[in-house]
Amino acid sequence: MDCVVIGAGVSGLSCAIRLLEAGHSVRVLAREFSPHLVSDQAAAIWYPFLVHPVEKTDRWGAETYTELMRLGEVEPNSGITMRFGREYLREQVELPGWREDITHFRVLQANEIPNGWVFGWEFQSPIIEMQHYMPWLLQRTRELGGIIEQKEIKDLSEISAEIIVNCSGIGARELCSDMEVKPVRGQIIYIEQDPGFGRYDQQPETLTYTIPRRDCTVLGGTAQSDDWSLELRDSDREYILSKCEAVWPELDRSKIIGESVGLRPSRSEVRLEAQKTIDGLIIHNYGHGGAGVTLSWGCADEVLRIIQEETEN
Ligand SMILES: Cc1cc2nc3c(=O)[nH]c(=O)nc-3n(C[C@H](O)[C@H](O)[C@H](O)COP(=O)(O)OP(=O)(O)OC[C@H]3O[C@@H](n4cnc5c(N)ncnc54)[C@H](O)[C@@H]3O)c2cc1C
Repeated sequence: MDCVVIGAGVSGLSCAIRLLEAGHSVRVLAREFSPHLVSDQAAAIWYPFLVHPVEKTDRWGAETYTELMRLGEVEPNSGITMRFGREYLREQVELPGWREDITHFRVLQANEIPNGWVFGWEFQSPIIEMQHYMPWLLQRTRELGGIIEQKEIKDLSEISAEIIVNCSGIGARELCSDMEVKPVRGQIIYIEQDPGFGRYDQQPETLTYTIPRRDCTVLGGTAQSDDWSLELRDSDREYILSKCEAVWPELDRSKIIGESVGLRPSRSEVRLEAQKTIDGLIIHNYGHGGAGVTLSWGCADEVLRIIQEETEN
């Protein structure tokens, strides 16, 4: 079928690849491309964070985990490595549903938890280096015969195609007049120092992370709702560093090499659903908040399933 994907972020390109692999013809239309997207700012660890509904995101997350791990093994240029991490919590909580779907998960012993936290778990998950992963996704789309064009879409009715897959991220706020889409601002710091294992406290109120990539470690974070500012803030830098030092006392500030900021495309729930039009079908796939990478392949597979179901009827 003739498909147009709107958006060249991690959501749009994952969908484009799945559609091409299934034999569809695909054009990707996007206002902007990597390295100028929110997707380029992702830290990025596989971890369902700031995203709902849990019963769906756990499934999409599990499917994505398997695919990212596979890509890490067979596609060295994709920039994916498997690393261990420890999540520290300030209260005892239910264990996450996804623990059964990953390669390693165990509850921490009391002597493994730093002062100030009371509970936690160790897990293994993919770390995705977006500076490698985004170019790899673009290249894979082209290799499979996808056409990529720069174009801003003002109205979905401008596009003539049997299938439109709308992966416009925060752009959906205007494109679909969907005021539920809101930014959750995230500032991060890059440091040339390896913590050995990642250390996390990924509750929205206390959000702390040290994500070990091969070239550096990404420190975060902030989760400022409805904040559109892309300016770096000194106060946020200090806030992030002091939180990270609490979980990683050896952190050496002299090894900081950069920082960045991005706006997570947040929504009360991911919008992944079909809308029938006179000309065909629109599948919306946006609002992945702080987990767009974590859910990318699961959502792309769901888009494909919806197309199969809708076009068979
Ligand atoms: C600091 C930070 C850290 C993060 N860390 C993680 C992490 O560790 N793990 C994780 O899973 N996620 C993380 N995220 C979240 C992740 O980055 C996002 O969920 C994800 O990138 C969203 O991808 P997307 O493809 O939906 O949107 P985008 O990357 O924003 O892409 C949207 C695309 O749509 C295009 N577009 C929009 N409107 C239009 C229009 N009208 N016409 C044409 N094109 C249009 C844009 O130009 C762009 O190409 C983080 C985010 C931030 C900011």
